[in-house]
Amino acid sequence: MKPAPFTYHAPADADEAVGLLAELGDEAKAIAGGQSLVPMLALRLASFGHLVDLRRLDELRGIERRGDDTVWIGAATTQATVQRSDEARTAVPLLARATPFIGHFQIRSRGTVGGSLAHADSAAEYPAVALTLDAELEALSPRGRRTIPAARFLTGMWSTALADDELLTGVNFPIWKGRCGFAIEEFARRSGDFAIAGATVALRTDDDGRLDRCAIGLFGLGPTAVRARDTEAALIGSAPLEADAEEIGRTATEGLGSVPSDLHGSAPYRTRVGAAMVARAWRRAVQEALHG
Ligand SMILES: Cc1cc2nc3c(=O)[nH]c(=O)nc-3n(C[C@H](O)[C@H](O)[C@H](O)COP(=O)(O)OP(=O)(O)OC[C@H]3O[C@@H](n4cnc5c(N)ncnc54)[C@H](O)[C@@H]3O)c2cc1C
Repeated sequence: MKPAPFTYHAPADADEAVGLLAELGDEAKAIAGGQSLVPMLALRLASFGHLVDLRRLDELRGIERRGDDTVWIGAATTQATVQRSDEARTAVPLLARATPFIGHFQIRSRGTVGGSLAHADSAAEYPAVALTLDAELEALSPRGRRTIPAARFLTGMWSTALADDELLTGVNFPIWKGRCGFAIEEFARRSGDFAIAGATVALRTDDDGRLDRCAIGLFGLGPTAVRARDTEAALIGSAPLEADAEEIGRTATEGLGSVPSDLHGSAPYRTRVGAAMVARAWRRAVQEALHG
């Protein structure tokens, strides 16, 4: 099938883009890499009279250290650029490590950071990473700019806190300092497929080797990526090598409200896979925090 006819717009800057989105209303949609939107248009799962292409918006591209504590990544920066970036690798290792799990290199060479976050697939890696690291998302609309914490950005399956006339312009990732460990693990039936279930872990130990910061993210296990906040809180102050990784996996995934059940796996199966991914990611993150 082919997409329904649409009018193509290529604004020169972000203000013009949000002006178009506001003026054209429900009939308009932003398009970045097109790796999620184009298949939906081609299969006629979605149809828009106007597409507002973000490719000319240079202000939405780049990876920049902002002060000592933050790395800014422009929303239209491709996933492949993140994968190649030394800045991303050293300052936001979890993001860099998550990137090769996204589809295939052809997809990553066009797919963007902002597209992945705005599309908000529950099994996507970047929303889970943003949530785990407490990233802050920058948005622009004709009403001005605002910042949205990752925890408030993901509102449901394929839905976010962005208004229809609002563009994601960039993401601020905090740089975790000290003795830190980061890991992402996921299980997919074939390389490049969306994960059946996955987990992210970020942790930090203090001078006595006890955990003083801990974040566990889960994806593919509900309408949005989520944090296992009760499990995280229970681990603060503990010695990570004494913690039982399997038990952490079990507690992190218990009580999840709406785990999907479909032809790729039942809800109990996905939950077990999720627990195993948490345990694996936990062990790897602990090893890194303790031994580098
Ligand atoms: C075969 C295949 C396998 C894939 N596997 C994975 C995978 O394993 N993991 C994964 O995470 N993804 C996967 N993807 C999706 C891919 O990562 C997409 O690149 C990503 O989801 C969307 O990015 P995009 O730039 O292509 O966005 P587009 O497709 O252009 O847009 C997607 C949505 O985001 C909105 N949008 C885009 N940019 C902005 C912005 N700056 N502000 C506001 N709204 C915006 C669009 O309006 C649209 O609603 C896969 C895709 C394919 C085709």
